[in-house]
Amino acid sequence: QFRALIIDRDDEKKQSAQVAAVSSDQLPDGDVTVEVAASTLNYKDALAITGASPVVRSFPMVPGIDLAGTVVESSNADFAPGDRVVLNGWGVGEKHWGGLAEYARLDGNWLIPLESAFTFEQAMGIGTAGYTAMLCVMALERHGVAPDSGEVLVTGAAGGVGSIAVALLSGLGYRVAAVTGRHEEADYLTGLGAARVLPRTDFTEPGRPLAKEQWAGAVDVVGGQVLANVCAGVKYRGTVAACGLAGGMDFPATVAPFILRGVTLAGVDSVMCPVDERREAWRRLARDLDPAVLEPVTTTATLDDCARLADEMIAGRVRGRIVVPLGA
Ligand code: NAP
Repeated sequence: QFRALIIDRDDEKKQSAQVAAVSSDQLPDGDVTVEVAASTLNYKDALAITGASPVVRSFPMVPGIDLAGTVVESSNADFAPGDRVVLNGWGVGEKHWGGLAEYARLDGNWLIPLESAFTFEQAMGIGTAGYTAMLCVMALERHGVAPDSGEVLVTGAAGGVGSIAVALLSGLGYRVAAVTGRHEEADYLTGLGAARVLPRTDFTEPGRPLAKEQWAGAVDVVGGQVLANVCAGVKYRGTVAACGLAGGMDFPATVAPFILRGVTLAGVDSVMCPVDERREAWRRLARDLDPAVLEPVTTTATLDDCARLADEMIAGRVRGRIVVPLGA
C-alpha cells in the first residue's frame, strides 16, 4: 500500500480530493513503475483538485502533471530499475494517474532521464512550469529575439512559469520587465533578475490596436486582455510566446500588430510537446538555470497540504513553485 492524493466524485458529481491508501494493483497500465521522489503543484493541478475547470477526464484520479523519481520496475527497453527519471504532461494527472502519489505506473515513452545537474526536488522546483518557461525562451530564440534586441516582458511574473522565465531570461542576458498584480512581490522579482517591475493594471484595460513599440519579446502566461495589450506593444518583428490563461481564455485583440509590425504570436504547449524538444528544454535548463535560483522560488508542501494550496493557487496567492516531496 502507498499514499496518494485521490480526486473522486459522489453520485451528485460533487468532486472531492483527499489523501488515501492505495494498493499497487490499483495502479493503471504502463510498462514502467516509478517510485516518486517528488511531485509539484501547478496551476493545472489546482484546476484538477478544485474542479474549477474540467481537467480530470476520469474518476477516481490521482492528480500531478509532474513527477521525478526512480524506476523500480520496467519492461521498457529504454529504462531499467534505478534510473532517475522526470515526467511532465502527456495527460498524466488528467486521464492517467499522476505524480501526487508515492508510486506511479506509466508509459515509458513519456519519461525522460533526469539531467544529473538536478536533484529530484530541484527538478520539481522546475516542473512543468519551468520546463514551459524554457520552451517559451526557446520559442523567442527561434524567432530571433536575442538579448541585444531590446527589453523583454514576462506577465504573471510572480507565478511558477513567470518566476522561472524571469530567472532564465535575465540569466541569459536579457533585460527583463516583470508584470505582476502583486506589488509586494517586487523585491522577489528584482531578486530573480527583473530590471523593472510593472503593475498588472498597466495591461488590463482595453487599449489601442497598436501601442508604443516597447518589447522585443514577451512570455505571457495570462492571456485575455493582458495578452492583447502585450501584442499591441511589441516592437517591429518581435515575438510573444503565449502559454497560459491565468487571466482568461479570450483574446480581445486586433490583427494590427501581426500585419503591420510583423509580430509573431508563438503558441507554446508543454503537454504533447515532442520528446526531442523536451530533452532539449531539460538540457538547456541544466545549462542555463542556476539551481540556486530555485531556492527563493520554491515552497515545500505535503500531500495533505495540496487541497488547501490548490484553492490559494486559483486565487492567485501562490508565489513561485510548490514542490511536494514524497517517499522516505
Ligand atoms: P501560477 O503559479 O498560478 O501563476 C499564474 C500567475 O498569473 C499568478 O501568479 C499571477 O501572477 C497571474 N495571474 C493570476 N490570475 C490572474 C488574473 N486574473 N489576471 C492576470 N494575471 C493573473 O500558474 P503557473 O503554473 O505559472 O501557470 C501559469 C499559466 O500557464 C496557467 O494558465 C497555466 O495553465 C499555464 N501553463 C500552460 C502550459 C502549457 O503547456 N501551455 C504549461 C504550464 C502552465 P502575478 O501575481 O505576478 O500577477
